[in-house]
This record gives sequence, structure tokens and C-alpha cells, in this order.
Amino acid sequence: MSAITELELFRQSGLIDGQWVAADTGRTITVTDPATRMSLGTVPDMGASETRRAIEAADRAFATWKRKTNAERAQLLEAWYGLMMANLEPLASILTAEQGKPLEEARGEIRYGAGFVKWFAEEARRVGGNTIPSPTPDRRIVVLKEAVGVCGIITPWNFPNAMITRKVAPALAAGCTVVIKPAQFTPFSAIALAILAEKAGIPAGVINVVTGQPREIGDELLTNEIVRKISFTGSTHVGSMLMRGAASSIKRLSLELGGNAPFIVFDDADIDLAIEGALVSKFRNGGQTCVCANRILVQAGIFDVFAARLADRVDQMRVGAGTAPGVAIGPMINEAAIDKINEHVSDALARGAKIITSERTLPPGGQYVAPIVLTGATTDMLLANEETFGPVAPLFRFETEEEAIAIANGTPYGLAAYFFTESHRRAWRVGEALEFGMVGLNTGAISTEVAPFGGVKQSGLGREGAQVGIDEYLELKSFHLGGLS
Ligand code: NAP
Repeated sequence: MSAITELELFRQSGLIDGQWVAADTGRTITVTDPATRMSLGTVPDMGASETRRAIEAADRAFATWKRKTNAERAQLLEAWYGLMMANLEPLASILTAEQGKPLEEARGEIRYGAGFVKWFAEEARRVGGNTIPSPTPDRRIVVLKEAVGVCGIITPWNFPNAMITRKVAPALAAGCTVVIKPAQFTPFSAIALAILAEKAGIPAGVINVVTGQPREIGDELLTNEIVRKISFTGSTHVGSMLMRGAASSIKRLSLELGGNAPFIVFDDADIDLAIEGALVSKFRNGGQTCVCANRILVQAGIFDVFAARLADRVDQMRVGAGTAPGVAIGPMINEAAIDKINEHVSDALARGAKIITSERTLPPGGQYVAPIVLTGATTDMLLANEETFGPVAPLFRFETEEEAIAIANGTPYGLAAYFFTESHRRAWRVGEALEFGMVGLNTGAISTEVAPFGGVKQSGLGREGAQVGIDEYLELKSFHLGGLS
């Protein structure tokens, strides 16, 4: 048994209406540590009936939660934030154990996740409406902002903490209540967050956690008329299914979906900055992030220098368990992820790409993949058209700015893009030409609670974080007061 099972924040139950519960059937799902492939514990294998009860509990809680003052809700969110920061180490240990990312990255995710709770505690106090000059003298028009209602929150495994707080904090700040369905590979981080929310004094039923069957839970969230909104982060494939399902009862949707981020290095770039940016953007979380550089486009004049320097740095990256000191690349989430990475690499090699990093022996036991740099990448390869979601850096050579922009935009996705140049004219030109929701200039790090996060095209709908993040959980009501003359 792993040490995390001794932690107070480790619990093997779902949360419905303030009760820690098992599945109705008593069935469980085993969660494994990707670094050892050993069991960490189990969570309830719930389905439609438990989800219905969670939705009904959230509905009852909504009646009182939405009537609290914004300052009262803000105070409870502040308390939750405080407990997250005070429990940074156990939260990070649980995260690394079930997800695999290096412990230092897990700590970073907890701080990032807690940042949303703090931010939306502050934003809760600033939810104001407005008044509109009336077209007739006997009327006044006021626009009120009201909580949407019960929200279904469906999250992925790659950021098991922050993808939850990025949704739940604005939902709660706005006065909504939630039913969370965490990813099956990483439910313990969600449960730990719910334990802390309970300790913070957030009332029963405001946050419910249902673990188990994705389709059954998802279908209940989609078809139950009490649920007024679904907020989802995950693949474009599942996001599109949820959009179809939400149509029958016209639910609001926020969708944070897949990406295919270009990372463009122009001849006039600061090469040191570009190398650091590429390492951060490509290899964080072992390449398993939606904003990871998926296609690295390098202009011909600096291609060879950039490739050699990047390969040298990647050769120095240590692969191993997230808990081992100095590890940069942890295990991949599951076998399917490894198969996809291998398929992308084999396809690229068959089409003429070359691996320029050194061969290495991987540690035994875990779900490990070697980080590599490939040259000779072309747009017909699988890795140019789908997220590889692994530590593979394919380098595409280009000649002109127009060519780079055309390749970068040549994808149905539009989440994140990065480019490196020292020219301010090019900075504006390229920044405006890139069809993505988020663009990083001379940086590989763009995630923060203070800026809007989200994509265009098939990368999703809506924005999370920033001042606009709370709007996703608020309805506008035009209130017309007549007969005043
Ligand atoms: P996924 O397979 O789409 O799963 C995401 C969540 O949806 C999981 O909780 C999953 O449950 C659930 N789910 C699966 N089928 C469902 C269904 N029929 N009904 C309701 N829920 C269902 O994605 P993933 O593999 O976990 O995550 C990786 C993807 O997320 C990548 O494409 C990545 O780019 C994207 N992502 C996007 C962002 C962003 O902000 N845009 C951030 C992070 C990740 P189970 O785990 O139980 O299958």
C-alpha cells in the first residue's frame, strides 16, 4: 500500500448531500499509480441513480446557497483556499500518486488550482448588474445577474486539481451548486478537494462528487432537467457528444477541448528564450497538457542550432517516478496513451522523420516513454494533425513567415499558440494572424487564473479564469420597472 492511503485527505467514497457514500451496487473501480502500476485504492462505481440523487441534493442546496450574500460565499471560498494552501503537500502527494507528474509540478498545480479559488472569492464581491436608460419616462430598466443553477462539472485526468477549481470556484462564487464527475484515473484529488471544502464550511449539497461510469453519469447530467449547465474539460470527441446531449434540454455549455498548439521560432528569436519556452511548453506534465506545443516550427536559418540545443537539453531530462528527486518526465497516464505516442512516432519515422536525441533505458515498472526530439516532421504526419499528448517534440522546418502562419493555422483546433521573435512588428503581425484563443509571445507559459483561458474552432466554447470566468455561471435578467411617471 502506498503512503497516501494514510493521509487524512485520502478517502475512497463519493460525496452526495454531505454524506460520504459507496455505489448503490457496492461495486468499485480500482485506481492505480502509473509509476508502479500498483493499486492505490478504489472509488465507488456509481451510475445514473447516484447521479440523480446528487443532482437533487445540489438543487436543494441551491435554494439557500444562492441567497447567501456574495460576501458570505466569498468568505467560504477564502477558507477553502486557505485549507488548500495549508494542505499543499498532501494534495500534491495524492496528485502525483494517481496522475504521475513530478511532485514539484504537482505542487505547482495545487498553487495554480488554489489560485482560482482565491481569484473567484475576490470576483464574487464584484458581481454587479447595470442600469439602462429607459426609452420611456415612466420606466426604469435594471439588469440583474443571477446564478445559472445546478451545474454538471466533468473533468480530465491531466490536471486533476486545477481543472476542478477552475470551474467550481466561479460556479460557487456566482451562487451555483455542482455535481462533479472526475476522471476515472484521478478521482482522489477531487475527493480531497471536497473534504477540504467541507472543512471550510461549504454547506452539504453545494459540492457533490460522483465517481464511476462516464456514460451513465454523463447521460444523467445531460438529460436531467434540474441541471442547467455543463462545464466540461476533455477531448473534442467527448465534448461534441456532450454538446449533442445537452441540446435536448437546451443546457448552457462551457467546453475546454483538445488543442494542437504550434510553437514557432523565427530566425530573429532569442534562442535561449525559445529553448526554455519549448522545454516548458512541450514537456510539462510529460507532454500531457492541452496547451502543450504539439508542432514546433523552426525557421531554416536557426533550425540546426535550435534542434541540436533542444536535443541536448532533452537528453539531460530524467525519466522516472514523480516522487523521485530530479525527475522531469513522469509516467504516462495509461497504456492507451503510450500506444498513441508510439503510433505517432512510428508513423513519423516511416514518413522520413529522424530521432536526434540519444537512446536511453527507461526505469522498470512504470508507464514510461522516452522524451525525444524529431527532425524532418511534415504536415502529412499523424503528429501534425492530432495531439500526441506525450514527450515527443517534432521539428518542422519553414522558410517564410507566411508559410509558418499557414501551417500553424492549418488545424481544426485553436487553443494555444506560441511564437518567438525579437521584432515588434512581426510580434503584432503574427500575434494577430494566429487563429487561437491564447497566444504566447516569447514565453511557453500562458496558464494563470488572471487571464481568460479557452479556445476557438474545435477547441471549445467559453472562457475560464479572469474577470469573464464567472459570467459562464451567471444569467442576465432584464428587470423592467414600469408605471413610475
Ligand atoms: P476525455 O476522454 O474526453 O475525458 C474527460 C472527462 O470526460 C473524463 O472525466 C471522462 O470520464 C469523461 N467522459 C468520457 N466519456 C464521457 C461520456 N460519454 N459522458 C460524460 N463524460 C464522459 O479526455 P481525457 O483523455 O481525460 O483528457 C485529455 C483531453 O482533455 C485532451 O484532449 C486535452 O487536450 C483535453 N484538455 C483540454 C483542456 C482545456 O482547457 N482546453 C485542459 C485539459 C485537457 P472517464 O475518465 O471516466 O472516462
